[in-house]
Amino acid sequence: MLFVRKKISVRGVVQGVGFRPHIYKLAGLHSIDGWVKNDASGVTIEAEGAPAAIAAFIKDIKLKKPAASRVDSVSASEMKPAGGCGFTIAKSGGRAPSAAMIPADLALCPDCRGELLDPCDRRYLYPFTNCTNCGPRFTIVRSVPYDRPATTMAGFKMCSACRAEYGNPLDRRFHAQPNACPVCGPAVALHSGTKVMSGPAALEKTAELIIAGKVGALRSLGGFHLCCRADGVKTVAALRRAKERPHKPFAVMVASPAAARRICFVSKLEAAALSSPEAPVVMLRRRSRAFEAAAPGLSRLGVMLPYTPLHAALFELLSKKGFNGPLVMTSGNFRDEPICRDSLEVKQRLGGVASFSLSHNRPIHNRVDDSVAFEAAGELRLARRARGFVPAAVRLSSGGGSVLACGADLKNTFCLTRGDEAFLSPHIGDLSEPRNQDFFRETLAKMRGLLRVSPAVTVHDLHPLYASSALARGLPGKKIPVQHHAAHALSVAAEHKLDGPFLAAVFDGTGYGLDGRVWGGEFLIFSAGRWNRAGRLKYFRLPGGEAAVHEIWRSAFSLLSSMPGAWRCAPFLRGVPAGNLRALSRMLESGLNSPETSSMGRLFDAVSCLAGIRREVTYEGQAPMELESLFKTRRRDPYKFGLSRQNGLLILDPSPAVRGAFADRGKARLVSERFHCGLARASVAALKDLSSGTGIKKVCLSGGVFQNRTLLELMLEGLHKAGLRAFINRQVPANDGGLSLGQAWYALKGYRT
Ligand code: ZN
Ligand code: ZN
Ligand code: FE
Repeated sequence: MLFVRKKISVRGVVQGVGFRPHIYKLAGLHSIDGWVKNDASGVTIEAEGAPAAIAAFIKDIKLKKPAASRVDSVSASEMKPAGGCGFTIAKSGGRAPSAAMIPADLALCPDCRGELLDPCDRRYLYPFTNCTNCGPRFTIVRSVPYDRPATTMAGFKMCSACRAEYGNPLDRRFHAQPNACPVCGPAVALHSGTKVMSGPAALEKTAELIIAGKVGALRSLGGFHLCCRADGVKTVAALRRAKERPHKPFAVMVASPAAARRICFVSKLEAAALSSPEAPVVMLRRRSRAFEAAAPGLSRLGVMLPYTPLHAALFELLSKKGFNGPLVMTSGNFRDEPICRDSLEVKQRLGGVASFSLSHNRPIHNRVDDSVAFEAAGELRLARRARGFVPAAVRLSSGGGSVLACGADLKNTFCLTRGDEAFLSPHIGDLSEPRNQDFFRETLAKMRGLLRVSPAVTVHDLHPLYASSALARGLPGKKIPVQHHAAHALSVAAEHKLDGPFLAAVFDGTGYGLDGRVWGGEFLIFSAGRWNRAGRLKYFRLPGGEAAVHEIWRSAFSLLSSMPGAWRCAPFLRGVPAGNLRALSRMLESGLNSPETSSMGRLFDAVSCLAGIRREVTYEGQAPMELESLFKTRRRDPYKFGLSRQNGLLILDPSPAVRGAFADRGKARLVSERFHCGLARASVAALKDLSSGTGIKKVCLSGGVFQNRTLLELMLEGLHKAGLRAFINRQVPANDGGLSLGQAWYALKGYRT
């Protein structure tokens, strides 16, 4: 029989995820000779065999792949048959593997979980078990190429049993760089009061302390968590006081998918996300008000599964002691500070919160917070992109010189590009907090090193006073400022490789506008390398400026000011001294300390306030999230909005809706339903108007307000009916966490205003 030989290149996330042993097995299955190796571009294979076998082999490479891998492309070229027998795993060749090939951290796989819970296995309840399909990756990488000496596992010498696994191509742990066992690997230590315990006893004691209602710090994969039982109302309240987080939702960790189902409704997509190698926190709809303290006032609860062997072992011990309930598992930080990474930090910054700390001696090199995902419009979307997703690249439609984009000040991430790949940093957080600025610098230096890029261009937000802009100014090279909402829209365009003209609706809380005003309800047109503002929410004043972000009644008061005397009978103003209100009226009249805004976020705040939900908020988006939580039916008469043209600009006037909400005041559910439906309808009408004027049929939706899945889905439906094609963020958050991608794309494509 005539044999053929082919050289096959596989690109994607194919290193550190068990790809070569997988190919080795496939080759055996199809009786193929040759070899496989890692190289700079991914995995290269030379395969020789019968033509049909080779074809089936290539087909299998595309179809069957290790859970944690991602195959972007498989290409094959003809070679001269070389003969030879057998298939081997060859040494990594040529240049060092590129950083693109550093996989993200992977949640505990089913095989390792099985061993972890098997009392006869040598890794029974061992908190650091892992294999080529699971375990730490990005969090332990110090440099490239990704080999054990370049990780924080360098200090642990493998025992003979581990070494045998590591060297055996047929073993699940073949070349698993963090491979470890109780004999040779990292170990836990429990600090409780003056006592220190280690090994299995430490885990046992931790379970006891948790059951007893203590709050503890737990060193996980990318940093510390604060944890306690979620059913302990007093315990959770104490944790809230200590973190100064009166209402902000805390995620919970449940023992299993079944346990998640007991407290929440779980769709197929959500179930897959919970159990995926990325294992994000998934926002699930609650069945009841149980565990209210974890997420007060919200219809959704952030839920995750035990994603490290440490978590799984802990849940196993808890269950042995009769406790199966969820645990609050929130980032181990104070307010908006970066997540703590080592025991010293915990002592200094969380000492007052945590009565015990379960730590371990495998250093965390790259800090990574938990990712947060939710399902909307039939797809999984991200609210926070960090663990499990970083440092995977977003693939762009074209490349260019390396660019650094610094993001915005809230929910900060930065983005580094290399060729046609965009690498976003993990979630860094609020840059007004100086520790986060340090975290930004530290992470930037590390990621630049891993990616081996030196960007010649730095992109930043147009806001002159943003800390992110100041950080950018401190860097060498060319600077490009980008308007906030243009960047939001371009984050969608970059993801979806949209190169032609498109429209955009960008709704968020705050962004610095070209006219110096506070933008946030924007309709934009992108065409031929330029963008312009085509419409907006009608400006209204924010009396007291920034104060309106927390005191949301200020926005409501401002929007009502066009209705003479209305505020006198507004229940939401009860408790605000009349003198303050008179002063506020004067501020509105004179415009003093009352910037004009088109912010959709502030409009949502105002309407929530009129609905009777609350007067003040303690975290961003609180009132709108509570308003959305009440939404049940779309069979309501939608509030009206005005739509007019002013100097060529489309103006969406919320006054009729505000009057409607005022008339319905106190009927929170009704206001929620009429407002969501009305805003979606009016926004679609505005986009239809712009589309018929320009002939553009593609629409990008972005901005933090589109994390409101009710509004998002209503608008998608409306746009679809209108014959427009909508695009929304999927790989990066629609909030400011995805902004840096749009900024980078602006610079790479050379956009202009
Ligand atoms: Zn595993
Ligand atoms: Zn070992
Ligand atoms: Fe924004």
